[in-house]
Amino acid sequence: MKARDVIPHSANEIYDRIGRPGQTLALNLFGFRNRRRIAAWTRYLGEVAPTERMPREEHVRLVEERLRGLLIHAVRTVPRYESLTSLLSHLEDPSSDAYALLTEFPVVTKQDVKENLESYLSRDPGPGKIVKTKTSGTTGTPFTTYMHDKTFTDMDALWWRRNVWSGYRNGDWIARLVGEAIVPLSETDPRKPWRVSWVDRRLYLSTWHLTSDNAHAYLDVLEERRPAFIMGYPSSLEILAAFASEAGRTLDWSPRAVWYSSEMMHEHQRELVGRVFGAPIVGLYGCAERVVSASQCEEGRFHLSLVDGFVEGQFDRLPLRQPALVTTLTNRVMPLIRFDLGDVIDVAHDETCPCGRTLPIMRPVVARAGDWLVTPSGRRIAPAGLTLVFKDLPGVRRSQIEQLDERTIVIHLDADEEAIAPASALLEERMGHLVSGEMEIRCVRDTELEMSATGKVQFVVNRMRSNEAPEGAPAKLTK
Ligand SMILES: [Zn+2]
Repeated sequence: MKARDVIPHSANEIYDRIGRPGQTLALNLFGFRNRRRIAAWTRYLGEVAPTERMPREEHVRLVEERLRGLLIHAVRTVPRYESLTSLLSHLEDPSSDAYALLTEFPVVTKQDVKENLESYLSRDPGPGKIVKTKTSGTTGTPFTTYMHDKTFTDMDALWWRRNVWSGYRNGDWIARLVGEAIVPLSETDPRKPWRVSWVDRRLYLSTWHLTSDNAHAYLDVLEERRPAFIMGYPSSLEILAAFASEAGRTLDWSPRAVWYSSEMMHEHQRELVGRVFGAPIVGLYGCAERVVSASQCEEGRFHLSLVDGFVEGQFDRLPLRQPALVTTLTNRVMPLIRFDLGDVIDVAHDETCPCGRTLPIMRPVVARAGDWLVTPSGRRIAPAGLTLVFKDLPGVRRSQIEQLDERTIVIHLDADEEAIAPASALLEERMGHLVSGEMEIRCVRDTELEMSATGKVQFVVNRMRSNEAPEGAPAKLTK
Protein backbone atom coordinates (compact mmCIF):
# COMPACT_ATOMS: atom_id res chain seq x y z
CA MET A 1 0.00 0.00 0.00
CA LYS A 2 1.24 3.47 -0.79
CA ALA A 3 0.77 5.94 2.01
CA ARG A 4 2.68 9.03 2.90
CA ASP A 5 3.63 10.18 6.35
CA VAL A 6 1.77 13.26 7.41
CA ILE A 7 5.08 15.00 8.08
CA PRO A 8 8.08 13.53 6.25
CA HIS A 9 11.25 13.31 8.35
CA SER A 10 13.53 14.65 5.65
CA ALA A 11 11.66 17.97 5.83
CA ASN A 12 12.86 18.41 9.42
CA GLU A 13 16.50 17.92 8.44
CA ILE A 14 16.30 20.52 5.68
CA TYR A 15 14.48 22.89 8.02
CA ASP A 16 17.32 22.76 10.56
CA ARG A 17 19.86 23.82 7.92
CA ILE A 18 18.18 26.91 6.46
CA GLY A 19 18.67 29.36 9.34
CA ARG A 20 16.17 31.65 11.05
CA PRO A 21 15.00 33.66 8.00
CA GLY A 22 14.58 30.44 6.02
CA GLN A 23 12.74 28.77 8.88
CA THR A 24 10.42 31.74 9.25
CA LEU A 25 9.71 31.61 5.52
CA ALA A 26 9.07 27.85 5.69
CA LEU A 27 6.65 28.25 8.59
CA ASN A 28 4.81 31.03 6.76
CA LEU A 29 4.52 28.88 3.64
CA PHE A 30 3.26 26.07 5.86
CA GLY A 31 0.80 28.66 7.17
CA PHE A 32 -0.99 28.66 3.79
CA ARG A 33 -1.52 24.93 4.17
CA ASN A 34 -2.87 25.56 7.69
CA ARG A 35 -5.28 28.16 6.37
CA ARG A 36 -6.61 25.68 3.82
CA ARG A 37 -6.91 23.09 6.56
CA ILE A 38 -8.79 25.47 8.84
CA ALA A 39 -11.20 26.22 5.97
CA ALA A 40 -11.74 22.46 5.48
CA TRP A 41 -12.19 21.94 9.24
CA THR A 42 -14.73 24.75 9.41
CA ARG A 43 -16.74 23.15 6.59
CA TYR A 44 -16.73 19.75 8.28
CA LEU A 45 -17.67 21.22 11.66
CA GLY A 46 -20.60 22.93 9.96
CA GLU A 47 -21.74 19.57 8.59
CA VAL A 48 -21.63 17.83 11.97
CA ALA A 49 -22.86 20.79 14.03
CA PRO A 50 -26.48 19.47 14.19
CA THR A 51 -25.25 16.39 16.10
CA GLU A 52 -24.08 18.60 18.98
CA ARG A 53 -27.62 19.20 20.19
CA MET A 54 -29.63 16.26 18.83
CA PRO A 55 -31.91 14.34 21.17
CA ARG A 56 -30.00 11.38 22.56
CA GLU A 57 -32.29 8.77 20.94
CA GLU A 58 -31.24 10.23 17.60
CA HIS A 59 -27.58 9.86 18.58
CA VAL A 60 -28.18 6.17 19.28
CA ARG A 61 -29.83 5.73 15.86
CA LEU A 62 -27.20 7.75 13.98
CA VAL A 63 -24.28 5.86 15.49
CA GLU A 64 -26.03 2.52 14.93
CA GLU A 65 -26.52 3.31 11.25
CA ARG A 66 -22.84 4.22 10.78
CA LEU A 67 -21.69 1.27 12.82
CA ARG A 68 -23.76 -1.06 10.65
CA GLY A 69 -22.22 0.36 7.47
CA LEU A 70 -18.71 0.07 8.86
CA LEU A 71 -19.17 -3.52 10.05
CA ILE A 72 -20.61 -4.59 6.69
CA HIS A 73 -17.63 -2.97 4.95
CA ALA A 74 -15.22 -4.79 7.29
CA VAL A 75 -16.76 -8.23 6.80
CA ARG A 76 -16.78 -7.75 3.04
CA THR A 77 -13.32 -6.28 2.49
CA VAL A 78 -11.03 -6.79 5.51
CA PRO A 79 -9.26 -10.20 5.60
CA ARG A 80 -9.31 -10.33 9.40
CA TYR A 81 -13.13 -10.41 9.36
CA GLU A 82 -13.70 -12.81 6.46
CA SER A 83 -14.59 -15.57 8.86
CA LEU A 84 -17.57 -13.53 10.03
CA THR A 85 -19.48 -13.66 6.71
CA SER A 86 -22.30 -15.48 8.45
CA LEU A 87 -23.06 -12.17 10.22
CA LEU A 88 -23.58 -10.36 6.94
CA SER A 89 -27.24 -11.23 6.46
CA HIS A 90 -27.99 -10.10 10.03
CA LEU A 91 -26.04 -6.87 9.60
CA GLU A 92 -27.84 -6.11 6.34
CA ASP A 93 -31.23 -6.48 7.99
CA PRO A 94 -31.98 -2.90 9.09
CA SER A 95 -34.19 -4.10 11.93
CA SER A 96 -31.34 -6.00 13.58
CA ASP A 97 -29.44 -4.60 16.56
CA ALA A 98 -26.04 -3.46 15.23
CA TYR A 99 -24.75 -2.88 18.76
CA ALA A 100 -25.46 -6.49 19.71
CA LEU A 101 -23.87 -7.68 16.45
CA LEU A 102 -20.73 -5.65 17.23
CA THR A 103 -20.10 -7.88 20.23
CA GLU A 104 -19.79 -10.86 17.85
CA PHE A 105 -16.54 -9.27 16.64
CA PRO A 106 -13.30 -10.14 18.45
CA VAL A 107 -11.56 -7.68 20.77
CA VAL A 108 -8.46 -6.37 18.98
CA THR A 109 -5.18 -5.47 20.67
CA LYS A 110 -2.44 -3.19 19.33
CA GLN A 111 -0.03 -6.09 19.40
CA ASP A 112 -2.30 -8.21 17.20
CA VAL A 113 -2.73 -5.44 14.64
CA LYS A 114 1.01 -4.82 14.51
CA GLU A 115 1.79 -8.48 13.98
CA ASN A 116 -0.90 -8.97 11.33
CA LEU A 117 -1.10 -5.53 9.75
CA GLU A 118 -2.03 -6.70 6.23
CA SER A 119 -5.05 -8.60 7.48
CA TYR A 120 -6.45 -5.42 9.07
CA LEU A 121 -6.27 -3.37 5.87
CA SER A 122 -9.30 -3.20 3.58
CA ARG A 123 -8.83 -4.62 0.09
CA ASP A 124 -11.36 -2.07 -1.18
CA PRO A 125 -11.11 1.09 0.88
CA GLY A 126 -12.70 3.30 -1.79
CA PRO A 127 -11.20 6.24 -3.64
CA GLY A 128 -8.94 8.87 -2.11
CA LYS A 129 -5.35 9.45 -1.05
CA ILE A 130 -4.20 7.32 1.88
CA VAL A 131 -2.04 8.68 4.72
CA LYS A 132 -0.63 7.11 7.86
CA THR A 133 -0.23 8.40 11.40
CA LYS A 134 2.03 7.02 14.09
CA THR A 135 1.63 7.09 17.84
CA SER A 136 4.50 8.71 19.67
CA GLY A 137 5.38 5.53 21.52
CA THR A 138 5.24 7.04 25.04
CA THR A 139 3.88 3.77 26.37
CA GLY A 140 5.42 1.37 23.92
CA THR A 141 6.59 1.02 20.36
CA PRO A 142 4.96 3.33 17.81
CA PHE A 143 1.67 2.17 16.30
CA THR A 144 0.76 3.05 12.73
CA THR A 145 -2.77 3.70 11.51
CA TYR A 146 -3.69 4.08 7.82
CA MET A 147 -6.62 6.21 6.74
CA HIS A 148 -7.92 8.37 3.91
CA ASP A 149 -6.57 11.89 3.82
CA LYS A 150 -10.19 13.08 4.13
CA THR A 151 -10.66 11.05 7.33
CA PHE A 152 -7.47 12.53 8.74
CA THR A 153 -8.65 16.07 8.00
CA ASP A 154 -12.12 15.45 9.42
CA MET A 155 -10.69 14.00 12.63
CA ASP A 156 -8.39 17.01 12.94
CA ALA A 157 -11.47 19.19 12.62
CA LEU A 158 -12.94 17.52 15.70
CA TRP A 159 -9.79 18.44 17.64
CA TRP A 160 -10.06 21.99 16.30
CA ARG A 161 -13.67 22.17 17.55
CA ARG A 162 -12.38 22.60 21.10
CA ASN A 163 -10.77 25.85 19.96
CA VAL A 164 -13.97 27.06 18.35
CA TRP A 165 -15.96 26.21 21.49
CA SER A 166 -13.60 28.32 23.58
CA GLY A 167 -14.01 31.38 21.40
CA TYR A 168 -11.49 31.11 18.54
CA ARG A 169 -12.34 33.42 15.67
CA ASN A 170 -10.68 33.66 12.27
CA GLY A 171 -7.57 35.82 12.50
CA ASP A 172 -6.80 35.16 16.18
CA TRP A 173 -3.16 34.63 17.13
CA ILE A 174 -2.19 31.33 18.76
CA ALA A 175 1.01 30.71 20.72
CA ARG A 176 2.16 27.10 20.58
CA LEU A 177 4.28 25.39 23.22
CA VAL A 178 4.30 21.82 21.98
CA GLY A 179 6.90 19.36 20.77
CA GLU A 180 7.73 20.95 17.43
CA ALA A 181 11.47 21.49 17.05
CA ILE A 182 10.99 24.88 15.39
CA VAL A 183 14.32 26.09 16.74
CA PRO A 184 17.01 23.55 15.87
CA LEU A 185 18.13 21.48 18.85
CA SER A 186 21.73 22.15 17.83
CA GLU A 187 21.21 25.77 18.92
CA THR A 188 21.83 25.34 22.61
CA ASP A 189 21.22 28.93 23.68
CA PRO A 190 19.11 30.74 21.07
CA ARG A 191 18.54 34.47 21.58
CA LYS A 192 15.06 34.12 20.15
CA PRO A 193 13.68 30.69 21.07
CA TRP A 194 10.60 31.15 18.87
CA ARG A 195 9.46 31.64 15.28
CA VAL A 196 6.53 33.63 13.93
CA SER A 197 4.13 32.78 11.11
CA TRP A 198 2.09 35.78 10.06
CA VAL A 199 0.18 33.84 7.40
CA ASP A 200 -1.76 31.73 9.89
CA ARG A 201 -0.95 33.86 12.94
CA ARG A 202 1.08 31.40 14.99
CA LEU A 203 3.76 32.15 17.52
CA TYR A 204 5.81 28.96 17.75
CA LEU A 205 7.65 28.75 21.09
CA SER A 206 10.32 26.11 21.50
CA THR A 207 9.54 23.65 24.32
CA TRP A 208 13.09 22.37 24.06
CA HIS A 209 14.96 25.51 25.07
CA LEU A 210 13.18 26.59 28.24
CA THR A 211 15.64 27.43 31.02
CA SER A 212 15.50 29.78 33.98
CA ASP A 213 17.87 32.08 32.06
CA ASN A 214 15.74 32.53 28.96
CA ALA A 215 12.22 32.10 30.39
CA HIS A 216 11.94 35.90 30.42
CA ALA A 217 12.43 35.95 26.65
CA TYR A 218 9.38 33.69 26.26
CA LEU A 219 7.29 35.83 28.59
CA ASP A 220 8.47 39.03 26.87
CA VAL A 221 7.42 37.81 23.43
CA LEU A 222 4.03 36.71 24.77
CA GLU A 223 3.45 40.15 26.29
CA GLU A 224 4.61 41.84 23.11
CA ARG A 225 2.54 39.77 20.66
CA ARG A 226 -0.43 39.16 22.98
CA PRO A 227 -1.80 35.99 21.34
CA ALA A 228 -5.50 35.28 21.94
CA PHE A 229 -4.66 31.70 22.95
CA ILE A 230 -1.73 29.69 24.19
CA MET A 231 -1.65 25.95 23.67
CA GLY A 232 0.76 23.38 25.02
CA TYR A 233 1.38 20.16 26.83
CA PRO A 234 0.43 20.50 30.49
CA SER A 235 4.05 19.83 31.48
CA SER A 236 5.37 22.52 29.09
CA LEU A 237 2.81 25.07 30.26
CA GLU A 238 3.65 24.14 33.85
CA ILE A 239 7.35 24.71 33.40
CA LEU A 240 6.89 28.12 31.78
CA ALA A 241 4.37 29.12 34.45
CA ALA A 242 6.75 27.91 37.18
CA PHE A 243 9.55 30.09 35.81
CA ALA A 244 7.23 33.11 35.79
CA SER A 245 6.01 32.36 39.28
CA GLU A 246 9.53 31.83 40.68
CA ALA A 247 10.68 35.11 39.19
CA GLY A 248 7.68 36.80 40.81
CA ARG A 249 6.64 38.05 37.40
CA THR A 250 3.05 39.10 36.79
CA LEU A 251 2.10 39.11 33.13
CA ASP A 252 0.34 42.15 31.74
CA TRP A 253 -1.35 39.90 29.19
CA SER A 254 -3.84 37.07 29.52
CA PRO A 255 -5.00 34.80 26.72
CA ARG A 256 -8.73 34.13 26.28
CA ALA A 257 -8.01 30.47 27.07
CA VAL A 258 -5.14 28.09 27.66
CA TRP A 259 -5.48 24.95 25.53
CA TYR A 260 -3.84 21.66 26.40
CA SER A 261 -3.72 18.18 24.97
CA SER A 262 -1.70 14.95 24.88
CA GLU A 263 -1.39 14.58 28.64
CA MET A 264 -3.67 14.89 31.62
CA MET A 265 -3.69 18.29 33.27
CA HIS A 266 -3.05 17.50 36.91
CA GLU A 267 -4.62 19.62 39.62
CA HIS A 268 -1.31 21.16 40.76
CA GLN A 269 -0.51 22.07 37.16
CA ARG A 270 -3.96 23.57 36.61
CA GLU A 271 -3.63 25.72 39.70
CA LEU A 272 -0.23 27.12 38.68
CA VAL A 273 -0.98 27.59 34.96
CA GLY A 274 -4.35 29.18 35.74
CA ARG A 275 -2.79 31.59 38.22
CA VAL A 276 0.06 32.68 35.93
CA PHE A 277 -1.92 33.02 32.69
CA GLY A 278 -5.18 34.14 34.29
CA ALA A 279 -7.40 32.32 31.81
CA PRO A 280 -9.69 29.28 31.62
CA ILE A 281 -7.85 26.02 30.87
CA VAL A 282 -9.49 23.91 28.22
CA GLY A 283 -8.60 20.34 27.33
CA LEU A 284 -8.92 17.92 24.51
CA TYR A 285 -8.87 14.15 24.40
CA GLY A 286 -7.71 12.40 21.28
CA CYS A 287 -5.69 9.47 20.09
CA ALA A 288 -3.25 9.20 17.22
CA GLU A 289 -5.30 6.31 15.83
CA ARG A 290 -8.07 8.87 15.28
CA VAL A 291 -10.80 6.57 16.52
CA VAL A 292 -12.37 8.69 19.27
CA SER A 293 -12.00 12.19 20.64
CA ALA A 294 -13.55 14.59 23.11
CA SER A 295 -13.48 18.34 23.64
CA GLN A 296 -13.99 20.32 26.79
CA CYS A 297 -16.88 22.79 26.57
CA GLU A 298 -17.21 26.18 28.24
CA GLU A 299 -18.87 24.44 31.22
CA GLY A 300 -15.78 22.31 31.75
CA ARG A 301 -17.29 18.97 30.62
CA PHE A 302 -15.59 16.72 28.10
CA HIS A 303 -18.00 15.80 25.28
CA LEU A 304 -17.29 12.82 23.05
CA SER A 305 -17.30 13.80 19.38
CA LEU A 306 -19.78 11.01 18.53
CA VAL A 307 -19.28 11.08 14.76
CA ASP A 308 -15.72 9.72 14.70
CA GLY A 309 -15.98 6.52 16.68
CA PHE A 310 -18.02 4.52 19.14
CA VAL A 311 -16.90 3.83 22.70
CA GLU A 312 -18.51 0.65 24.00
CA GLY A 313 -20.75 1.79 26.80
CA GLN A 314 -21.10 5.38 25.60
CA PHE A 315 -24.84 4.74 25.44
CA ASP A 316 -26.46 2.29 27.79
CA ARG A 317 -26.77 -0.23 24.94
CA LEU A 318 -23.54 -2.05 25.82
CA PRO A 319 -21.57 -2.28 29.06
CA LEU A 320 -18.61 0.02 29.54
CA ARG A 321 -15.30 -1.82 29.32
CA GLN A 322 -11.96 -0.75 30.80
CA PRO A 323 -9.62 -0.06 29.12
CA ALA A 324 -12.15 1.23 26.63
CA LEU A 325 -13.02 -0.70 23.48
CA VAL A 326 -13.48 1.66 20.56
CA THR A 327 -14.75 1.21 17.01
CA THR A 328 -14.16 3.67 14.21
CA LEU A 329 -17.19 5.01 12.35
CA THR A 330 -15.09 6.73 9.69
CA ASN A 331 -11.92 4.85 8.76
CA ARG A 332 -12.57 2.52 5.84
CA VAL A 333 -8.91 1.91 5.08
CA MET A 334 -8.01 0.26 8.38
CA PRO A 335 -11.27 -0.17 10.29
CA LEU A 336 -10.31 -0.68 13.93
CA ILE A 337 -13.17 -2.56 15.56
CA ARG A 338 -13.47 -3.22 19.32
CA PHE A 339 -9.95 -1.88 19.54
CA ASP A 340 -8.30 -1.85 22.94
CA LEU A 341 -6.88 1.66 23.06
CA GLY A 342 -5.26 1.30 26.47
CA ASP A 343 -7.16 4.31 27.83
CA VAL A 344 -9.73 4.37 30.56
CA ILE A 345 -12.85 6.19 29.34
CA ASP A 346 -15.75 6.66 31.71
CA VAL A 347 -19.07 7.98 30.37
CA ALA A 348 -21.68 9.71 32.51
CA HIS A 349 -25.00 8.56 31.01
CA ASP A 350 -27.18 10.33 33.52
CA GLU A 351 -25.56 13.75 33.34
CA THR A 352 -26.68 16.66 31.22
CA CYS A 353 -24.44 19.64 30.53
CA PRO A 354 -25.53 23.23 31.14
CA CYS A 355 -23.89 24.16 27.81
CA GLY A 356 -26.87 22.54 26.09
CA ARG A 357 -24.89 20.05 24.04
CA THR A 358 -26.26 16.53 24.15
CA LEU A 359 -23.01 14.83 23.07
CA PRO A 360 -22.05 12.07 25.56
CA ILE A 361 -20.14 13.36 28.58
CA MET A 362 -16.87 11.69 29.37
CA ARG A 363 -15.67 11.84 32.96
CA PRO A 364 -12.14 13.21 33.06
CA VAL A 365 -10.39 10.10 34.29
CA VAL A 366 -8.51 9.49 31.09
CA ALA A 367 -5.09 8.09 31.72
CA ARG A 368 -2.93 5.52 30.13
CA ALA A 369 -3.97 2.37 31.89
CA GLY A 370 -0.39 1.58 32.83
CA ASP A 371 0.37 4.80 34.63
CA TRP A 372 -0.38 3.95 38.22
CA LEU A 373 1.65 2.89 41.19
CA VAL A 374 1.10 -0.50 42.75
CA THR A 375 1.82 -0.90 46.45
CA PRO A 376 3.10 -4.18 47.96
CA SER A 377 -0.38 -4.76 49.34
CA GLY A 378 -1.75 -4.42 45.79
CA ARG A 379 -3.31 -0.98 45.99
CA ARG A 380 -3.29 0.91 42.71
CA ILE A 381 -2.72 4.61 43.11
CA ALA A 382 -3.85 6.72 40.16
CA PRO A 383 -1.74 9.68 39.01
CA ALA A 384 -4.61 12.08 39.68
CA GLY A 385 -4.40 11.23 43.36
CA LEU A 386 -0.66 11.65 43.44
CA THR A 387 -0.76 15.19 42.12
CA LEU A 388 -1.96 16.45 45.51
CA VAL A 389 1.38 15.43 46.96
CA PHE A 390 3.07 17.91 44.66
CA LYS A 391 1.03 20.95 45.60
CA ASP A 392 2.91 23.96 46.95
CA LEU A 393 6.42 22.68 46.54
CA PRO A 394 8.58 25.79 46.21
CA GLY A 395 11.14 25.75 43.43
CA VAL A 396 10.01 22.50 41.78
CA ARG A 397 9.43 22.95 38.05
CA ARG A 398 8.51 19.46 36.98
CA SER A 399 8.37 16.11 38.60
CA GLN A 400 8.14 12.50 37.64
CA ILE A 401 7.38 9.48 39.78
CA GLU A 402 9.09 6.26 38.93
CA GLN A 403 8.26 2.94 40.52
CA LEU A 404 11.37 0.79 40.24
CA ASP A 405 10.17 -2.36 41.96
CA GLU A 406 7.58 -3.55 44.43
CA ARG A 407 8.96 -1.46 47.26
CA THR A 408 10.85 1.45 45.70
CA ILE A 409 9.67 4.77 44.38
CA VAL A 410 12.07 7.34 42.99
CA ILE A 411 10.80 10.88 42.56
CA HIS A 412 12.67 12.87 39.96
CA LEU A 413 12.61 16.59 40.58
CA ASP A 414 13.50 19.25 38.08
CA ALA A 415 14.49 21.99 40.48
CA ASP A 416 17.46 24.09 41.52
CA GLU A 417 19.93 22.49 43.91
CA GLU A 418 18.82 24.47 46.95
CA ALA A 419 15.16 23.54 46.46
CA ILE A 420 15.79 19.81 46.57
CA ALA A 421 16.28 19.22 50.30
CA PRO A 422 13.11 20.98 51.53
CA ALA A 423 11.03 19.51 48.68
CA SER A 424 12.39 16.02 49.36
CA ALA A 425 11.50 16.21 53.03
CA LEU A 426 7.92 17.23 52.22
CA LEU A 427 7.52 14.66 49.46
CA GLU A 428 8.91 11.75 51.42
CA GLU A 429 6.54 12.54 54.23
CA ARG A 430 3.43 13.05 52.07
CA MET A 431 4.15 10.20 49.71
CA GLY A 432 5.04 7.87 52.57
CA HIS A 433 1.67 8.67 54.05
CA LEU A 434 -0.09 7.85 50.77
CA VAL A 435 1.54 4.45 50.45
CA SER A 436 1.04 3.77 54.18
CA GLY A 437 4.75 3.43 54.83
CA GLU A 438 4.88 0.30 52.68
CA MET A 439 7.51 1.62 50.30
CA GLU A 440 10.87 3.33 50.25
CA ILE A 441 10.71 6.81 48.74
CA ARG A 442 13.77 8.53 47.34
CA CYS A 443 13.98 11.95 45.73
CA VAL A 444 16.63 12.79 43.17
CA ARG A 445 17.41 15.96 41.28
CA ASP A 446 16.91 15.45 37.57
CA THR A 447 16.76 18.43 35.27
CA GLU A 448 16.34 16.24 32.23
CA LEU A 449 13.24 14.22 32.86
CA GLU A 450 12.61 11.30 30.58
CA MET A 451 10.76 12.57 27.57
CA SER A 452 9.10 10.78 24.73
CA ALA A 453 10.01 11.60 21.14
CA THR A 454 7.41 14.37 21.10
CA GLY A 455 8.79 16.06 24.18
CA LYS A 456 6.17 14.97 26.70
CA VAL A 457 6.97 14.05 30.27
CA GLN A 458 5.02 11.15 31.67
CA PHE A 459 4.05 11.95 35.24
CA VAL A 460 4.10 8.38 36.50
CA VAL A 461 6.36 5.71 35.09
CA ASN A 462 5.92 2.24 36.44
CA ARG A 463 8.88 0.04 35.50
CA MET A 464 7.15 -3.02 36.91
CA ARG A 465 4.17 -2.65 34.62
CA SER A 466 6.29 -1.93 31.57
CA ASN A 467 8.28 -5.10 32.34
CA GLU A 468 5.27 -7.32 32.66
CA ALA A 469 3.74 -6.39 29.30
CA PRO A 470 5.56 -7.03 26.02
CA GLU A 471 6.70 -3.81 24.43
CA GLY A 472 3.90 -2.08 22.61
CA ALA A 473 1.18 -4.20 24.12
CA PRO A 474 -1.53 -2.40 26.02
CA ALA A 475 -1.15 -2.66 29.76
CA LYS A 476 -3.29 -5.42 31.16
CA LEU A 477 -6.16 -4.40 33.29
CA THR A 478 -8.50 -6.68 35.12
CA LYS A 479 -11.72 -5.61 36.70
ZN1 LIG B 1 -21.01 20.99 27.76
